[in-house]
Amino acid sequence: MKRFVFPGSFDPITVGHQEIIERALLLCDELIIAVGENKEKKTMFSLKERMDFIEQTNQGNLKIKIDSYTGLTVDYCKKVKATALLRGLRNPSDFEFEKSIAQMNRKLSGIETVFLLTAPEYSFISSSIVREIINHKGDFSSLVPSAVRHP
Ligand code: ADP
Repeated sequence: MKRFVFPGSFDPITVGHQEIIERALLLCDELIIAVGENKEKKTMFSLKERMDFIEQTNQGNLKIKIDSYTGLTVDYCKKVKATALLRGLRNPSDFEFEKSIAQMNRKLSGIETVFLLTAPEYSFISSSIVREIINHKGDFSSLVPSAVRHP
């Protein structure tokens, strides 16, 4: 049973995240989307809202579970007996950043990280850009799944 964990802030989930989710489903038996709860990090959307958007977007997909976690991602992975972590890569700076985290996670717990390259048409999309557009009252509808509502 291959169980992947896709950790992230998902503040909010974007079409880029969703495309990674759909492609990863071809590689695993179960995908846990694990929304990080970091009390020190101020988010635009509450934990419940972030989880609800993901839930509504993936309703009815029995291979997907949605959860939240605090603390180290590797500890969460151990708890749920994950086979691998899943991360998306958009560009070289994502790669540099993700490389050190993946190497550290593997050293800490032996867990592998599976990387999927973003589809080129989504490589400019990030939750922070979506938040910026929301803050300036712009139209962000093409960047997020339809379940994502205005804060
Ligand atoms: P974090 O705060 O952990 O970086 P994010 O929600 O920003 O959480 O991102 C979670 C994962 O999704 C990361 O691996 C990130 O690189 C990936 N990701 C973000 N945006 C995209 C996108 N447009 N295409 C593919 N992957 C993406």
